[in-house]
Amino acid sequence: MRVSWTSDGDLRLLGLRLDPGEDLTGTVTDGQRVELATDTCHVRLPRPASPREVSIHPDLLALAAWTVVAPWTADRIVFDRPISSELAAALHSGWGVEAGPVGEAPRAPGTGLAISYSGGADSAAVAGILPDAPLVHFRRVSHPRVPNRWTHYRSDVLAELAEKTGRDVTTVESDLEFLLRHPRPGYPEHHAVMIGAVLLADTMDLGGVALGYELGSRWLGGGRYVHRYTPDNPMWSAHGPWGRLFASAGLPLVLPVGGISEAMTMRLALGSHLREQVRWCLRGDSHGPCGRCGKCLYKELIQAAVERRPMRTTITADRPVARKWQQPPPYGGQEMIEYGCAHVPGIEDTPFAKAAGYLQTTRESTEWLERCYPPAVEEIPGPWRKGIEAMMRERFGFMRPEDMERVESWGQR
Ligand SMILES: [Zn+2]
Repeated sequence: MRVSWTSDGDLRLLGLRLDPGEDLTGTVTDGQRVELATDTCHVRLPRPASPREVSIHPDLLALAAWTVVAPWTADRIVFDRPISSELAAALHSGWGVEAGPVGEAPRAPGTGLAISYSGGADSAAVAGILPDAPLVHFRRVSHPRVPNRWTHYRSDVLAELAEKTGRDVTTVESDLEFLLRHPRPGYPEHHAVMIGAVLLADTMDLGGVALGYELGSRWLGGGRYVHRYTPDNPMWSAHGPWGRLFASAGLPLVLPVGGISEAMTMRLALGSHLREQVRWCLRGDSHGPCGRCGKCLYKELIQAAVERRPMRTTITADRPVARKWQQPPPYGGQEMIEYGCAHVPGIEDTPFAKAAGYLQTTRESTEWLERCYPPAVEEIPGPWRKGIEAMMRERFGFMRPEDMERVESWGQR
């Protein structure tokens, strides 16, 4: 793999070239097979305030490129300028890839923490507990060479909602998701959502990027992928390949809500000043979420559970988006289905009636999902750990040994 960055005004263009033997089919860290559609993409950064700020440390450029090209890289990557030996070592230990040329001094971490902000409940929860941190929002734009047949995805609405938060918001536009021909446009690696924060890390003096990954995605296998305890989660653990790579660029990953469940991030988001801007549905317009998609159904279950009220939905069990809940477990995000079935009054009249019958959960059996898993706080980098630990203790309390056993035996019962 060879990659190069060029500039054109406020655009940064990434070009990639496969080596002989590299294939258009690649594999994402989460195991998803992906097919490459084209060989360029762009990122539009906001105009720098002064020319001095234009230079970007080569390790940041290399890291940004790696979030895009990792699935297709076999055993070597050549960047267009020298990187540090630290970054090269992290690429080698994480992926077995020879990376170079080497010859730059490592990047010294900055002092600030930015939030990778999608506008969903999890990232809104992070924004709520870090009220002074700037938000960096990724906005999908179309690609000049790839037709956009996915116009129901309303990235314009999501960007508008982010702007309305009244926070320090930087919106970064990119067409990088259209590099994927199969299965559909999306981030080549999940970490590509941070490409703006990575490229702006010097300008914004960043020493970390905070993400909304919660207990389920960090420790319980992450929604649709697997249903088991994942202390060594390769995407989000501090000691995994991606955690080490970001740290080697002076920009460690920070998961402030990694110890609490999606129900608790929902509670934080809806109780924060961002309540009116929270939006997990990718299809809704400026009037509200669509109310018809699978995400709307799943999140309505969680919200109803948090608010201890019946579900408000017109989706019925015979709809395609509700089909998976008519089957026996395991389910993606099962811990939240368990929580929802235990807390929503009248669950027997919802599309989750069958799931509730299979799972047989109670308020007592799901109490562990209201407390914080201590190892999640232990892996938060030094400067931010203490504040988050105090906040977790005050708002949720920490799990008892029997709660931790639930986390650590997840998927085995
Ligand atoms: Zn929806």
